[in-house]
Amino acid sequence: MNLDGRRESTNVEDRRGMSGGAKVGLGGGIMGIIIAILAMFMGGGGLDIGSILGQMGNVTMQEESSDGQPIEYSAEEQQLATFSKQILGGTEDIWSQIFKSQGLGEYRDPKMVLYSGSTSTACGQGQAAMGPFYCSGDQSLYLDLSFFMSMKQQLGADGDFAYAYVIAHEVGHHVEYLTGVLQQIHSKMARYGQGSAQANKESVRIELLADYLAGCWAHYDNERFGSVEDGDLQEAIDCALKIGDDYLQKRAQGYAMPESFTHGTSEQRMRWFKAGYESGDVKRGINSAMQLDYSQL
Ligand SMILES: [Zn+2]
Repeated sequence: MNLDGRRESTNVEDRRGMSGGAKVGLGGGIMGIIIAILAMFMGGGGLDIGSILGQMGNVTMQEESSDGQPIEYSAEEQQLATFSKQILGGTEDIWSQIFKSQGLGEYRDPKMVLYSGSTSTACGQGQAAMGPFYCSGDQSLYLDLSFFMSMKQQLGADGDFAYAYVIAHEVGHHVEYLTGVLQQIHSKMARYGQGSAQANKESVRIELLADYLAGCWAHYDNERFGSVEDGDLQEAIDCALKIGDDYLQKRAQGYAMPESFTHGTSEQRMRWFKAGYESGDVKRGINSAMQLDYSQL
């Protein structure tokens, strides 16, 4: 991915190493995925893209230095922080342009909170184990950078463009919020009851749309910055494949239970991302997502 000449977003709050307090090591373990899958079967609907992946980090807690000295980060982690700020900055430029040109009103930038381990949010306590997520209550994306290491080590979903896709997916949820789609579907889900088969279907609607919107971002980001290089699209598509509900469930236990899907199958996630990338048409994506009947979700 070509990142030449990019500014870093200033809408970033860095809470790494802050109270909540422990730093999460960049390790990996396989137990987490089993816990995550169990959580899904037990009706943990509404978990987000990283929720499964995020469970997989082998969390090694390391106390913050008691003398209040800032924790030093590895070059790799600092690089990821800079990268994430650059990608967020790009989404701000691209989405304000899209909102103008497609008549969607005014785009308001979300905030990105970098944290390690756990942190408080308007949606309750955020845990690294949940993976990256978006909270509409404070219009913020929450990201523990160790997630990217988990992606790489546990799923072999690697590459800067795959990482950018993850951030763009969360920003996609913010776009859903600004356009009112998120509130509409959340109230439906509340009516059906968290974890019910119907609520899960509605969740798939939100998630596939976020993938589509990530594709729209990539479409215009490439147009503006010439960012998409050889192999990049394949990275994102490969990532989408590896975070499909069916793929993760089969990997964990050998079979998949469609009624428990909350994010969509690998095939769906790849298809929606690609469709967004090819058309860049936001309203078309929203209409398709809202109109799919349950048999298509
Ligand atoms: Zn999501």
